[in-house]
Amino acid sequence: MEFQFCGAAGSVTGSKHYVACNEFQFLVDCGLVQERKNLFQNWEPVLENPSQLDAVFLTHAHLDHCGLLPKLVADGFQGKIYGTSATLELAKLVLFDSAHIQEEDAAFKKKRHAKEGRVPPRPVRPLYTQADVEKTVQLFCSVPYSETTKVAPGVEVVYRDAGHILGSAFIEVILTKPQVDQDEPRRILFSGDLGRANRPIVCDPEFYTEPNVISNLFIESTYGDRESEPIETVNDQLIEVVNRTLDRGGKVIMPVFAVERAQEMLVRFAKLIVEGKIPADTPIFLDSPMAVEATLIFNRHREIFNEETIEISREAKDTIKNLHLFKTQQESRTLNEMEGPAVIMSSAGMCNAGRIKHHLVNHIGDPRNTVAFLGYQAEGTLGKLILNGVNPVRIHGQPRQVNAEIVMIRGISGHADQSELLEWYSAIPIHPKTTFVVHGEQRAIQTLAEKIKEIAPETYVLTPEYKEIYKD
Ligand SMILES: [Zn+2]
Ligand SMILES: [Zn+2]
Repeated sequence: MEFQFCGAAGSVTGSKHYVACNEFQFLVDCGLVQERKNLFQNWEPVLENPSQLDAVFLTHAHLDHCGLLPKLVADGFQGKIYGTSATLELAKLVLFDSAHIQEEDAAFKKKRHAKEGRVPPRPVRPLYTQADVEKTVQLFCSVPYSETTKVAPGVEVVYRDAGHILGSAFIEVILTKPQVDQDEPRRILFSGDLGRANRPIVCDPEFYTEPNVISNLFIESTYGDRESEPIETVNDQLIEVVNRTLDRGGKVIMPVFAVERAQEMLVRFAKLIVEGKIPADTPIFLDSPMAVEATLIFNRHREIFNEETIEISREAKDTIKNLHLFKTQQESRTLNEMEGPAVIMSSAGMCNAGRIKHHLVNHIGDPRNTVAFLGYQAEGTLGKLILNGVNPVRIHGQPRQVNAEIVMIRGISGHADQSELLEWYSAIPIHPKTTFVVHGEQRAIQTLAEKIKEIAPETYVLTPEYKEIYKD
């Protein structure tokens, strides 16, 4: 058996784990690299010969896990791409959006080169196109949660709920003859991204509780060196921020990620309205075509919502009076002249693109308003500058005076923290023979690896580097 760590090895984004058995080769995830220093990896071939690959098993629909599939297909991959049906629907949405951005970026660069009279060393082209995405989605094949699905002779997979985003899974691949030479089945477990308990919409992450020998475990380590703030205080913070802003006649401007975070906030607001904690007639706007599309996909998959969310959405139907989902620019523009208090959610989540920038231009100068961030803002993004107190702040090429209240709602995170990762690991009844710690910054990887060695001293713990090969 051969493993190659083709991405998210020694880094967070670009998850791609390659495994070759006797006659079956597969990848778990084929994600886009998003860390600036590693962007070149997106242009390198994922594998030498993608046409020989039999399958891709997708853990979830985040871009850093599915975002390079169209390039793999353009490079010759013709096998099947497996995922839960919610993951595949969300991946389709996310990939078309990504291709659109790639195409626009390439067109913009071409224009700039022409204007500057510069001839680039290589012709500028998009990483992949919408036509590549069309071909990619033809290969999608859905698998249910918690059932053993046979995908090839001697190859079975079990998807279990990872509680990270809708449809997310950790995956067990079970290999028997002819893929392995031994009589005992060989099991490989991929954590994907693990979520945390007590979140809106998604169920709590499942544990692996079968008394089986796992030969190789891949575990993520995003928060391998950190504890998150408690999730229980999120709604209390929201109640305070929203009511305080409404009382002074202002608007709450919330930058949201289009997939999961936007829907999570809709459910949180629904709960607060049903419970009478914020006024039922509060105008709430979700202004983002992609977030609205994602919300429709979520609504088609209520069967995998947690029970509380199902209950809230039932009650909220009659209680919420003033919710608006905006897709068109025309609808969005009506918000420019709108008077009075409201909550406006828009993307992108870190304010580096999209309609949120217009809302910031229109509202950041008014001291009655609040800009509420819902999570981590990466270095160099507009969100980070605002959060750091830069004033005035440049948006759309102009300096803008910041008079609005700036707040950060703490405790919202889709990732298990260190103790939650270790709890998940410890729940595996028999410690895996080998553990690969992936999907983290170096410090997080090393810290988690040390902790795992303490829990499971007999386990061989490895922290692989990009493109490293491991034979077992
Ligand atoms: Zn993720
Ligand atoms: Zn990830």
